[in-house]
Amino acid sequence: MIASTFIWSNYSGRHWVQITKHVHALKIPFQVTDPSGLKIPRFVYIYLLYGIKVCLIDSGVASSSQIILDHLTEAGRSPKEISLLILTHAHPDHIGAAKALKSISGCAVAAHAAEKAWIEDVDLQETERPVPGFKSLVEGSVPVDLILQDGDVLDPGGGLNMQVIHTPGHSPGSISLWLPQEGVLFSADAIPTAGGMPVYEDIQASVRSIQRLKSVQGIKVLLSAWDEPRMGTEPYRSMDSGLDYLQRIHNAVIKVADPDVRLDSMELCRRVLEELGLPKVMANPLVARSFQSSFCMLDQKDLLQDRG
Ligand SMILES: [Zn+2]
Repeated sequence: MIASTFIWSNYSGRHWVQITKHVHALKIPFQVTDPSGLKIPRFVYIYLLYGIKVCLIDSGVASSSQIILDHLTEAGRSPKEISLLILTHAHPDHIGAAKALKSISGCAVAAHAAEKAWIEDVDLQETERPVPGFKSLVEGSVPVDLILQDGDVLDPGGGLNMQVIHTPGHSPGSISLWLPQEGVLFSADAIPTAGGMPVYEDIQASVRSIQRLKSVQGIKVLLSAWDEPRMGTEPYRSMDSGLDYLQRIHNAVIKVADPDVRLDSMELCRRVLEELGLPKVMANPLVARSFQSSFCMLDQKDLLQDRG
């Protein structure tokens, strides 16, 4: 049984809500500091699956471990009951507390093979994908015990099963998780929010992944890492909106790109943001990298063909 609206509890600064019989959502606030020293408030959603054991979907940032442990205590569960931490991908706001949670609970850590290197060596990740304040967001490296691939079915106990769907684009090894018994799809960062900061490595793969998620029948609740829980008709509408946003971005890159003038990637970034009517403060190397993935395929105007 799923509530028609979700009422968030705010307890000792923690924002959480029970989504279904087994799934709880936690909204974790944090800050990133940009190169000018400006503190930017951010948040990330992580999810707990309460079965016979406890399964975590992502760990949030480094400071999240105490929030998660407090939530477990409040639910009458022990940290030792965490048996599995699934990392949907390697980015800092997903793996930040993994090291602490693994050391406290002894849980297994699971992720896609394409994310393993950056989870097991966070210094390598910081070198290859610098993010402001990386060290304050990520506590440290953690070994990946279980490699997940598309089609795997996990057994969290209690008659539940959770299917792994490989949804690359945002990152090469991003995964989504489908819990059919409760109609819950965990999409992590796979679906961009219209008007939000565009962060992906491969726009065409992102489109294909969202189309794949759209083909999942019977989604009652969509739980992403950067958007509030979506239910009713909203899950499929959110996917359509994400697809349309990617196409609009691609159109803007095509319009701005001059085949005779190879623009510096940050200059291209600024011009595309302006074309899209997005704030100038979004201009950063991650967003520039997203737009570059369109630059490589300017001849393909319609990304949504073969739309699922
Ligand atoms: Zn991410």
